[in-house]
Amino acid sequence: MAVRPVLRPGAVVLRRDARHLQVGTTPAVVVRDEPGSAAVLRHADGVRTADELAQIAVRAGSSRGAALVAELLARGALVVAPVGGRRPRVDLRHDAGGARFADVFRALAAEDAVFEECPQALVVTVTVGEPARAAFQAMRDHRIAHLPVVLIDDRVRVGPLVFPGHTPCLDCFDLQQSAGDPHWLALVPQFGRSRPARVGAGASAVGLAAAEAARAVEELRIDTPPRLVGRSVLFGQAPRLESTVGFQHRCGCHLLAA
Ligand SMILES: [Zn+2]
Repeated sequence: MAVRPVLRPGAVVLRRDARHLQVGTTPAVVVRDEPGSAAVLRHADGVRTADELAQIAVRAGSSRGAALVAELLARGALVVAPVGGRRPRVDLRHDAGGARFADVFRALAAEDAVFEECPQALVVTVTVGEPARAAFQAMRDHRIAHLPVVLIDDRVRVGPLVFPGHTPCLDCFDLQQSAGDPHWLALVPQFGRSRPARVGAGASAVGLAAAEAARAVEELRIDTPPRLVGRSVLFGQAPRLESTVGFQHRCGCHLLAA
């Protein structure tokens, strides 16, 4: 699925000082005015792909076109625009405990969503308990867009929605978690080895999470940037808890775009 970046809706590009540009004012996203930055921001119209923008950056003198575009996306100066009017393709995979989520998600997903296995589909995975990371690393490395849904303890976590090379991945999420919990990375290799015996999340949490995932599919269809890019949302407690997920340099997934 080609990523088509667009300037943050409603934002304009301003010059902040001799070395920096600024996208929008409320809030402002400040970016370094390096060769190619202005050209990418000027040409990011939601029609050109990230690869085309990277080439534009290189023609404008950048030595790191793809990384520059990925960085502008990660910083929020650009957002991912889907192609309007396209039928979203969804490859839904769930374990036994994820069946109820899957049923609600199917019912709520865009009316014209096509559920099928195909290389261009968004893979939505639903697991009870934290899933083993290998499958997600494989999808990332093969540049398959994916959305992890995890029923964990009495909650449901949705996101981040990953467009490999262009938006932060699940490894980025883990590295970010480890900043708050130094032992998190010791837990990660154990994920998926044993599964909880039953789903702890209540029906309302499952339903709200399914609606969030369904909205992501709808956003792929209409001309709206997916909110779950670089973000995970936790349901099962009030209020719902949203966290941003940024590129982690130790992960290096943003280099996929290079
Ligand atoms: Zn990553």
